[in-house]
Amino acid sequence: MIYDVKHETMSREELEVLQLERLKKIVHYVYEKVPFYKRKYDLAGFHPDMIKTLKDIQKIPFTEKSDLRDNYPYGLLAVPISKLKRIHASSGTSGKPTVVCYTEHDMEIWKDCCARVCGQAGLEPDDIVQVCFGYGLFTGALGMHQGAERIGAAVIPASAGNTERQVMLLKDLKATVLVSTPSYALRIAEIARKLGYDIKKDFSLRLGLFGSESSSEEMHAEIAKQLNIFTTDNYGLSEVIGPGVSGECYKKNGMHINEDHFYPELINSDTLEPVKPGEIGELVLTTLTKDGMPVIRYRTKDICTLDYSPCECGRTTVRMSKILGRSDDMLIIRGVNVFPSQIESVLMEIPEIGSQYEIIVTREGNMDKLEVRVEVADGSLLTDYKKLMDLHQKVQHNLRVILQIDALVKLVEPLSLKRFEGKANRVTDLRKKN
Ligand SMILES: [Zn+2]
Repeated sequence: MIYDVKHETMSREELEVLQLERLKKIVHYVYEKVPFYKRKYDLAGFHPDMIKTLKDIQKIPFTEKSDLRDNYPYGLLAVPISKLKRIHASSGTSGKPTVVCYTEHDMEIWKDCCARVCGQAGLEPDDIVQVCFGYGLFTGALGMHQGAERIGAAVIPASAGNTERQVMLLKDLKATVLVSTPSYALRIAEIARKLGYDIKKDFSLRLGLFGSESSSEEMHAEIAKQLNIFTTDNYGLSEVIGPGVSGECYKKNGMHINEDHFYPELINSDTLEPVKPGEIGELVLTTLTKDGMPVIRYRTKDICTLDYSPCECGRTTVRMSKILGRSDDMLIIRGVNVFPSQIESVLMEIPEIGSQYEIIVTREGNMDKLEVRVEVADGSLLTDYKKLMDLHQKVQHNLRVILQIDALVKLVEPLSLKRFEGKANRVTDLRKKN
């Protein structure tokens, strides 16, 4: 279903008129209400009156994660604290978290955008949705929860963890939709099998909405097979609003950005210039409608492509590709750039390989060493020397031919690598500690 027909299917011309009108308004608004933006813009010689066309957005200085951290907790608010209705925070890897604030108006936008994402995925009012994200400061759980409710579905706020109980709830409460990270979906499938369930027969699941970590097409295909569901990807980040920025429709050909609320640009992370149409770049987002804590030209560090061609589902909004990785996560192995998601794609295309892997990067002398540990799908293969060597060679060969990287490949037993209940962390780069 298309949740907001007016805004999701308007012509590009109409949409751009709306975007420009909202852009002018929001830039004036932050300039007047948030001293941080006024200072920054004055210093850069930028004034909101300079916005005449959408292209003029390129004249505005970027906002970075460090700006949010430096202004912790309330420095970027455009309204008095008394106007806030909800406060979330993203987990900082070190030190203080990044705080995200919502007014009543922002909460409405958030719920609508999450409802659109649910509609994009194919969620219907009679669905029963089990949300297996951790409830709390993290925006993922409550965001998708509110979106599914707004569509009219019933929500089971199962949260994350205690996977055996999750499996019991999925089965007994006849959940038709699973909301989780892709890695946790695989964990649920694994535990269901371990408990002796036949997923096709014992469960009512039909659809999965996966977000909060990047995952390859091949990983989705694996989840679809294991849980017997249609899988969709969605994208958001708490600094911008949380989930609700974009979601994949049934055509599975990119995630529709809710462009009337979030204006997207793609830039080259080094030169900071816009990339050419169709090229890979870093996603930059501007919130066009939030009034509590708008962000203007926020550098997400997420790498993707944008496709403005019409989609068969009827929506006219631009589609972003799956996130290839974060610009911070890109590994440079002996001069070759590679994202962990690309390694994942290569691994998942090999049928004898299981769905769990780890990547470890070290440096010996001046030489980068990449080790890929991956579970085999069937443990009996490990006792068949010939088959084991063949598979080993195949993995090494595919990594070399497809990604131009030489890796030390270790094939390990099923269920021997670490599992994740929230965001997966499969990469250890030990070079950074040297
Ligand atoms: Zn579509």
